Amino acid sequence: MRDQIRKFAIGASASICIAFAPTAPAVAAATADRITILYDAFGDDPAMKKDWGFSALVEIGGRTILFDTGDNAEIFAANVKTKHVDLTKIDFVVLSHRHSDHMAGLAHVLSVNPHVKIYAPKEGFGIYGSSLPSSFYRKDESLPADMRYYGGAPPQTMIFGAAWPKANFELVDKTTEIAPGVTLLALVSDAPGTRELKELSLVVGTPDGLVLVVGCSHPGIDRIVAAAATINPKIHLIVGGFHLVVATDEAIGKIVVALKDTYKVAYIAPGHCTGEPTFAALRRAFGADYIYAGLGKTLQIAALVPPGKRGEGPHMNGEDAATYRRLARRDDPFGTGAWKRAQASAASQSADLRP
Ligand SMILES: [Zn+2]
Ligand SMILES: [Zn+2]
Repeated sequence: MRDQIRKFAIGASASICIAFAPTAPAVAAATADRITILYDAFGDDPAMKKDWGFSALVEIGGRTILFDTGDNAEIFAANVKTKHVDLTKIDFVVLSHRHSDHMAGLAHVLSVNPHVKIYAPKEGFGIYGSSLPSSFYRKDESLPADMRYYGGAPPQTMIFGAAWPKANFELVDKTTEIAPGVTLLALVSDAPGTRELKELSLVVGTPDGLVLVVGCSHPGIDRIVAAAATINPKIHLIVGGFHLVVATDEAIGKIVVALKDTYKVAYIAPGHCTGEPTFAALRRAFGADYIYAGLGKTLQIAALVPPGKRGEGPHMNGEDAATYRRLARRDDPFGTGAWKRAQASAASQSADLRP
């Protein structure tokens, strides 16, 4: 009889394993998925050089993406070396926006990998280069040729140079899926001081939801998350700068509520321009789901179990446990022995009645 109890226990634990088995393949496939912070002004790794700015190496789904390049090429190069990052092996670079604390390290990237694809926001007359049809400006044919642009015969397309003329830029104007499951969100800031600034944010789909990497969030982290949620409302992780360094407690509170309650973001790993009071507020709100993302830190994505799959096993309350103990004390806890005996006796009776 004791064997039966043991069998039940094994059966129960086996069914628990089965119940949580669906997480296993996704986690197994994603064990290499990670994000390493290469540039930031806070951190606990003495081997890394702190400076204002942001860069992260995003390794997800077999791709290696360099998101932003920091504020100073020498410091960026030193941090890349400390973390043993091989910049010749990256698939592409994303420059979130034209602020120097996100792109000054590009000079170093290009020195080791001059032809790497670089996604950057498309801006008229921007430093990444641009072009416009020459029809954009008004003409005055009454003027003599030497007072007219291009002597009155402009090229059809006017090309404006980039600060890195030989770099392989691909300029992004609107939200675009650049590879299966990898999307660049293109938003424009409406905030005083950065009005019309375009910014790209990186969204990568995973079996547990979206991983969102943001540079400075000038268009507003709430607007960026809202845009990401149109791809998949399940936001697994947000990493990067939320641009709340000078925000009031009230403004911070609204963002925290939006991330935690409206968008139900599972994990939050703020950095860069998120701001010290916002770090504190997010840590209070997210508790164990606040992931420390200081300079040099590597976030293992597979270790971040989504809320719906956090399997401590079926919870047994006090009453269940007492019932279980009472049943376990019995010889035939689930009545299966009695049922078998009844079946056997019925069978023998019917056998006896056989002609
Ligand atoms: Zn910025
Ligand atoms: Zn910034």
